[in-house]
Amino acid sequence: MSLTKYNKKRNFESTSEPEGKTKSSEDELIFVVQRHKATRLHYDFRLELEGALKSWAVPKGPSMNPKDKRLAMMVEDHPFDYKDFKGIIPEGNYGAGIVEIWDKGTYSDIEKSDKKTAEKNLKKGLEKGDLKFTLKGKKLKGEFVLVRMKKEDNSWLLIKHHDKYATDEDYDSEELTPKSSPINKALAEKKPKKKEKSPR
Ligand code: MN
Repeated sequence: MSLTKYNKKRNFESTSEPEGKTKSSEDELIFVVQRHKATRLHYDFRLELEGALKSWAVPKGPSMNPKDKRLAMMVEDHPFDYKDFKGIIPEGNYGAGIVEIWDKGTYSDIEKSDKKTAEKNLKKGLEKGDLKFTLKGKKLKGEFVLVRMKKEDNSWLLIKHHDKYATDEDYDSEELTPKSSPINKALAEKKPKKKEKSPR
């Protein structure tokens, strides 16, 4: 895993995002989903692997409904410490906008192996473009797969597997975001107010 690209894109004197260093969790592998209001609102889906966070930008957000295939664009690895990052990325910086944590927890391979074995299996899946894993988050739970659409491409699909956690109802991650979230507050302020009647 390399964080060179991550570091190159950012000016750490200007952004409070963590500088890229390799680091791992002590116990179980972790995942995080960040909701990010940049030029466009999207979700960043990150899985810890070998001391960094493998990262995908998911425009529509994840779904717990197996019939949804959510486009996930693979982006550069992020440092492990990014799992806790939330707040404002100032104007003029890469990804300028607001970041909030939408869900987080631990994760493993489908077999729920010990960390070392899990990392081996996950790495194999990643290379194959068929990455199966189990999430233990607050919102996202159970088995998922990330499937690469084409080799030499960064577009993947994030799909929920049928299991006891799956739903067959419409799933909209936006609806599961509190109105009081920093991004939703900022968006509400930006909305044009109803035109006031002009004084005669
Ligand atoms: Mn992002």
